[in-house]
Amino acid sequence: MAITDLPVTKLYGVGAAKAAAYAKQGIYTVRDMLYDFPRAYENRGNIELLGEITDHEIKHAVILTVATEPKISRIRRGMSLIKFRAYDDSGTAELTFFNQDYLKDKFPLGESFRFWGKVERVGRRFAMSSPAFEPILEGSPLADLLPVYRLSEGLTQKQITANVAAAASLCGAEIPDILPNDIRLRNRLCTLNYALRNIHRPEDFSGLAAAKRRLIFDEFFVFALGLSLSRRRAERGIAPACDCRDLSPLLALLPYELTGAQKRAINDIARDMKKGVPMNRILVGDVGCGKTVCAAAAIYFAVKSGRQAALMVPTEILARQHYAELSEMFSSLGFSCELLIGAQTPKKKEKTKAALASGELDIVIGTQALLSEGVDFARPGLVVTDEQHRFGVSQRAALSDKNAQNKTRAHMLVMSATPIPRTLALALYGDLELTVIDEMPPGRRRVDTYAVDESFRPRLDGFIEKNVADGGQVYIVCPAVEEKEEAGDEVSLDLLTENGVMQDNSPPLKAAVAYCDEIRAKFPNITVEFLHGKMKSADKEKVMARFAEGKTQILVSTTVIEVGVNVPNACLMIVENAERFGLSQLHQLRGRVGRGKRKSYCVLVYGGDDLENCTENAKLRLTTMRECYDGFAIAERDLSMRGPGDFLRSGGESIRQSGGVKFRLADMCDDAGILASAFAEAKALTEEDPTLSSYPELLSSVNAMFELDESTMN
Ligand code: ADP
Ligand code: MG
Repeated sequence: MAITDLPVTKLYGVGAAKAAAYAKQGIYTVRDMLYDFPRAYENRGNIELLGEITDHEIKHAVILTVATEPKISRIRRGMSLIKFRAYDDSGTAELTFFNQDYLKDKFPLGESFRFWGKVERVGRRFAMSSPAFEPILEGSPLADLLPVYRLSEGLTQKQITANVAAAASLCGAEIPDILPNDIRLRNRLCTLNYALRNIHRPEDFSGLAAAKRRLIFDEFFVFALGLSLSRRRAERGIAPACDCRDLSPLLALLPYELTGAQKRAINDIARDMKKGVPMNRILVGDVGCGKTVCAAAAIYFAVKSGRQAALMVPTEILARQHYAELSEMFSSLGFSCELLIGAQTPKKKEKTKAALASGELDIVIGTQALLSEGVDFARPGLVVTDEQHRFGVSQRAALSDKNAQNKTRAHMLVMSATPIPRTLALALYGDLELTVIDEMPPGRRRVDTYAVDESFRPRLDGFIEKNVADGGQVYIVCPAVEEKEEAGDEVSLDLLTENGVMQDNSPPLKAAVAYCDEIRAKFPNITVEFLHGKMKSADKEKVMARFAEGKTQILVSTTVIEVGVNVPNACLMIVENAERFGLSQLHQLRGRVGRGKRKSYCVLVYGGDDLENCTENAKLRLTTMRECYDGFAIAERDLSMRGPGDFLRSGGESIRQSGGVKFRLADMCDDAGILASAFAEAKALTEEDPTLSSYPELLSSVNAMFELDESTMN
């Protein structure tokens, strides 16, 4: 057994009680202890003089010499104080510790200590209450950066620090480096031992930076290896080899020609599906690029080959929409197709499930919730997942694991409506083969886009009335601050800040509910409804359904409008406080209109008096929206303006987590540079040794990260 696998109780000072406290934090072994990285550091290296300190709200480091003997006083039962004075060149401070009688002998007269804490000013004197302290000793300089750990009950910073030090000294320099040396050197990374020492007890800032870089690289590298292994694993199963030769019966039913990009995508799919090993592919393309017909082609191949297919979507509305769009086409091809959603009667649902289990039914279209929970297929062939806006592979992973239990697996096709630059797509979807659809169907009339200020309001109101009078429908989207906390299946509204600071002079934000009332008052003869993230999803669906059926003319909403929802009759998208939205978000919102025959418009209303009041970046975003209609180009611009962090985060999922994997230090976005080199190295390594048979340590790191046991990897 390696030293690092020893239980924490082997460490000096860790007994059963502390081990239990550590277990609550998921720390069981010496390795766990070493990999429990500090959540922050205190910089105690900047020594100040008492007299120079002006900010009394934050902690400071001072070096003081003990001037009076510590005295204990009992202030009331069970409560005692230790007080003494200590000084530096600028003044004297009174130090107080509560209920720590054992400290009485720790501060001999004339000895110097480094104290760390808030410094109060009391007249000409200073005071510190329960500061942290370290004796100044000849020949052993104090560390500048001190770790701050996450605490669970029963543990203190001091204890963790001491236990981590014990773990480090137990291991000495004997922790085997998981990185092959050439990779480490090529990427100018420090050794694992150095990194683990410095992440806990940094020698200095550069030591800490080197440690972080190394450990972040490791996380990405192991993650990339895991994706690559899981792709291999998926590909190793057996899947039906489909007959993908002739698509003409389906093509004959289409009122249009496929675009070049669609043809390429369908070719990729056909190549995968005829191989007899499971397809694992993602189609990434802008809203409206025509992914549905690619999915239909895949379904066609599967059913033509005697197999069943499922199309899973995130919401019932989308399921209905896809069903309405596709069922007629499938039935004229002689395929049977059913809808499966929660709103149906139990009897209807059971009937559909039974038909799938008996093999009577060819195609089912339904919500992910229903289809991923145990539906039996007699002849599984293909699962298409319309992920729309979501990142993350957790659901996919769950699904493919389920498939893994079957002898024959279904082919998998995932569709994502978020145009993201290829490099990021590779990292996010590294477990899948990637097809990018970068071409829109011809003759798409562009959604004319305007950026206007408040002075345009009366004309805008008139424009709303005119569009509604013509039979069109209108979306009005406004930001709402509280939406930020929302998790779940909606796009979180990432209110934009410049340099991370909210602008104080910003105009009041329109909140959906209040604004809906305003709009109703303004247009008494128009039906107006609202939609926001705090509503129950059943209510949201009802509101959306009424809008889709044309019963509502104006929908006031936060960004929860389901991405992918198709209301072809909607022809006007108004975005209030548009300066608050990210580019990709504006683009997604604009994609809600221009989906039917009506000439469509997008009006971006910015809050200030004029464009001059908007920040440079906000201006650039609005200008970009006016000039640019290509989702991938907009994504690139967004990426370069916001940096990968904010860009991806507006996708609504934490990027410290991907594929069910949590990173300790790494962030897909902030560390995009390291990410790229780690992925490149992982690719090279798995090409040379696809099963990592010569790298057992790496393999066990991969298994640990993906929480797999060895057996499932093979
Ligand atoms: P998305 O990629 O957003 O899912 P859809 O598949 O819903 O896009 O397609 C959007 C619209 O474009 C649909 O109305 C579809 O019929 C139409 N469409 C798809 N492909 C073409 C094409 N090659 N030529 C013309 N129209 C197309
Ligand atoms: Mg779609």
